[in-house]
Amino acid sequence: MNKFSKEVMSVGEMASGTKLTVPVYAFKGKNNAAASVYIQANMHGAEVQGNAVIFQLLELLQHCNLQGNITLVPYANPIACNHKNGEYTLGRFDPITGVNWNRMYHFDESVIEPFVQQYLDASEEEIKDKFQQLLLSEVENKLKHSTWGLTTGQCIAYQLQRLAHQADIVLDLHTGPISSKHLYCPEYAQASAKYFDIEHTILIPNDFDGAMDEATFCPWWSLQQAYENLGRKFTMGQGVFNKESFTVELGSQEQIDLDVAKQDALSILSYLQYQGVIDNKQYQPQKMTRYAGYLKDYKALYSPMGGMVDYLAEFGKPLAAGEPLVRILRMDNYGDGDALHYVSLEQEVIPILHFASASVNQGTELYKVLCNYFEL
Ligand SMILES: [Zn+2]
Repeated sequence: MNKFSKEVMSVGEMASGTKLTVPVYAFKGKNNAAASVYIQANMHGAEVQGNAVIFQLLELLQHCNLQGNITLVPYANPIACNHKNGEYTLGRFDPITGVNWNRMYHFDESVIEPFVQQYLDASEEEIKDKFQQLLLSEVENKLKHSTWGLTTGQCIAYQLQRLAHQADIVLDLHTGPISSKHLYCPEYAQASAKYFDIEHTILIPNDFDGAMDEATFCPWWSLQQAYENLGRKFTMGQGVFNKESFTVELGSQEQIDLDVAKQDALSILSYLQYQGVIDNKQYQPQKMTRYAGYLKDYKALYSPMGGMVDYLAEFGKPLAAGEPLVRILRMDNYGDGDALHYVSLEQEVIPILHFASASVNQGTELYKVLCNYFEL
């Protein structure tokens, strides 16, 4: 049975002096050449299923043939996790600054060019080591030497990022509001998406917008492109550049299901087996039809009116053009107007998630749907 270590990482302090802490579990693999992995959950407060998945992973990994190192961090954001209002967990945005908790990670693209100039002819090993050190020192500098201080969210994010940069593979476990499972996957890693038991994949470009997945794959993608511009060709996903990061959307917020979490954990083990992080051939992807589409084709549908929404469109199934996604009830119009309004689209789409409440204002995001999708 594999042993894991457990540490408590301090990520900030509350007004009363109480320490904000995050548990960090780690397994050591036996093969230095194998890819290493970082998995975190619950950066957004209401998105709790990932904690249950980490529980199941800890249970299963103790009996795996571990090759690479694996670090697991549940409750990654202790403020968001405890941010309740009435019956609900909020925790998508820092309540003080209003900034999305998953937009505070760091990447400064200006470090790429000088690095490539300095290490143009270096060995692959040296490039990998030195660039990883550079990314770590960038985050370290932010944490230790910010003259003007850091926001609470940056302080949490950078400490998580310091762990993530030490790994080759990063899985950030989230959920949608009311949602089907889906995977955000860098475009170059499309082939890896079929090792997860997730039916829908959104392929994302090399644009850094502050999220954990981007903060850990964009630097390497940009580095690879900078080398290519100077005539040295590497392939993303291979050799030095075997760096993959995913945001794994595990379903709906505000709920855990330990049985589903077991399935989600098996899905992650199937991917880790494919990557050689574990050597357990029993973990294989399930047979299923997997659809993918590009981020530009992952569209939000905003409500044309206020009202009470009956969400009609089923997740994950192609919805024909003209079929209604929702019907909106307007009791103020009953008797002297239209009490029911149907909303449909002029193209076939796959509905992925919808808003968590039935009552919406005009302009509330009703559904997110995948257009121009294709089979993986
Ligand atoms: Zn999230």
